[in-house]
Amino acid sequence: MIEAQIYAARRILVVGAHAFDAEVIAGPLAFAAAAGGAEVTFLHLTMGEQGHRCLSASLYAEQKRHEASAAAKRLGVSWLSLDLPDAFLPADEATALSVCDVIRRLRPEIIITHWHGSWHKDHRAASDLTKTGVFYASLPTLERDSPPHSPSLLLFGENWEDDEGFQPTYLVDVSTGFAPWREAAAEYELARGLSSFPYLDYYSALYRLRGCLRGTNYAQAFAGTSHSWNAGAGLFMPPAQPGPRP
Ligand SMILES: [Zn+2]
Repeated sequence: MIEAQIYAARRILVVGAHAFDAEVIAGPLAFAAAAGGAEVTFLHLTMGEQGHRCLSASLYAEQKRHEASAAAKRLGVSWLSLDLPDAFLPADEATALSVCDVIRRLRPEIIITHWHGSWHKDHRAASDLTKTGVFYASLPTLERDSPPHSPSLLLFGENWEDDEGFQPTYLVDVSTGFAPWREAAAEYELARGLSSFPYLDYYSALYRLRGCLRGTNYAQAFAGTSHSWNAGAGLFMPPAQPGPRP
């Protein structure tokens, strides 16, 4: 079962375009994994500081830092941000190398990010930046401050804005993380009425819907990488037979 692999991981990294994205694509899972002893880190590429009706971008970024910290505390995870500009997340090599550096420093066995089929340009960029960051992190000849590292699993989480072509590969039992996730999500003004989108209703129903299909109270859906991508990345699948490879 996929749960056996996910909940055995010692380190998990979740990469979101904006603070609050990591919380919805992997928040309940993060709580469950952290409660089991994993070190879970949310990387918010931007703080998502645009779009507040009253606050300037700089003031809203400060508010979101407080909200991200409060949410992370409830989930038992750590967070960091590259503090890149919301709505202008650069989809370039320098940013992919920054993601690579975070991966090499934290050495996660599992990485979770956005599905690429999104109406939101920052979400598409975050998905590509993470895939490229994983690729760079594993390159043995690419010299950075930290040594190369390859995760064993890359997953794409479910986000209401990233629904173009999203098909779940895995449904993961996250039942123990649901209640803490609701409290964590509610730390964000975004989930308390700032946005016209009913985040808490949507994701509560979604996790329950996925749980109905998984046979658990709550579940989160994830898409996996293609077989060719796994093979190209080199180390993603364990050997079919235990023992040294030829
Ligand atoms: Zn977002």
